[in-house]
Amino acid sequence: MKEEIKFLEKEWLIPFYERFDVNVIKGKDHYVYDDTGKKYLDFTSGISVVNFGHANRKINSAIKKQLDKISHISNLYYNELQLKLAKKISEKAFKAKFFFCNSGAEANECAIKVARFIGNSKKEGKNKILALKNSFHGRTIATISLTGQEKYKKGFEPLLQNIDFVEPDNIKELENKFDEDTCAIFIEPVQGEGGIFKVSEKFVETARKLSTNYEALLVFDEVQSGIGRTGKYFGYQLFNEIPDAITLAKSLGNGFPIGAFAIRPDLVDKIRPGLHASTFGGNFLACTAGIKTMELLDEELLKRINRLSEIFEAELKKIKEAYPEEIKEVRIYGLMIGIDFNDNIEVKEIIKRLIDKGILTLRAGKNVLRLLPPFTIGEEEIDFFCKKLKEALMDKSV
Ligand SMILES: *Cc1c(COP(=O)(O)O)cnc(C)c1O
Repeated sequence: MKEEIKFLEKEWLIPFYERFDVNVIKGKDHYVYDDTGKKYLDFTSGISVVNFGHANRKINSAIKKQLDKISHISNLYYNELQLKLAKKISEKAFKAKFFFCNSGAEANECAIKVARFIGNSKKEGKNKILALKNSFHGRTIATISLTGQEKYKKGFEPLLQNIDFVEPDNIKELENKFDEDTCAIFIEPVQGEGGIFKVSEKFVETARKLSTNYEALLVFDEVQSGIGRTGKYFGYQLFNEIPDAITLAKSLGNGFPIGAFAIRPDLVDKIRPGLHASTFGGNFLACTAGIKTMELLDEELLKRINRLSEIFEAELKKIKEAYPEEIKEVRIYGLMIGIDFNDNIEVKEIIKRLIDKGILTLRAGKNVLRLLPPFTIGEEEIDFFCKKLKEALMDKSV
């Protein structure tokens, strides 16, 4: 990497990010290339954003075509592409009405506003929101308030009021905290930033029942688990319940920024113009990226994701058996993967070693190596990763 980049970064950017020494300048499918020409296998997809591969030819050519036609007009006028995208998402989820925005935090922000508005208009004080401990819902003030991890909130107080947290899978606590003042519960089907933890069927079933009984919204945050990541179109489809609303972003535009909030149509009869808006939300380019992405997300692709998942799982099980001291647990749902390490391993060190070996990976939770590879990978890339992971583990234990 060019050394001067570090100095320029210090001069020009607010130090919100701690970066690894990689300066990527281009990519294709599941590979990216740095400024020295070094090739990396990308097992991050830019945190489950570029699920359909870098520089996806079909998505790119649709965006290029749209760019020359028109990119933006504003939500003062009709926009057929928003309608087309809404229909495409609904076909793979449930019949819903949509609001388009630009990010995951914004999608959750809209969900919070709508949940409070519906609750407050039902009954005075019906604006308590439940979320899960160890969850992640974004970095704005409202969404860190909803996030169940102290490290994202410390120093930003006062936060949004009337939010309470439930231990994932603690049904007793869920039943105790749910009451007539509750307007919504937010659940990640599989916690991503928290370390790849799937909630239990029983917990989801109970949340569904309580939400129906108390007329609260069951909202699934699908920002990371959606768009094929778990081997289903949307993560909630790992369970037998249907939510009232979902939030989407990350991979919805395969790298073009777009977010969405989708809600059961019968729940929005109180919503009227002026309550919420976004300047960029659902512009022509973002919707074009979204439409193409949703077209590429089909049954055949899900089959491929699930087949790769099985192969990956078998390989990781073998590695876990070979390294029982180092690896605590492997959790894998589609191509959403967590390798949970014991305390004798520092995951950041493993990530650095893998970078040296030409593989990009992520961390999550306390000490979890998180893998979110693009769906374009094959068995060959899984083998390569496993071989390099074993090497990285060996380097460490020497
Ligand atoms: C990444 C993420 C968000 C926030 O999305 P941004 O686009 O970064 O605002 C929200 N929820 C979950 C589950 C996420 O993984």
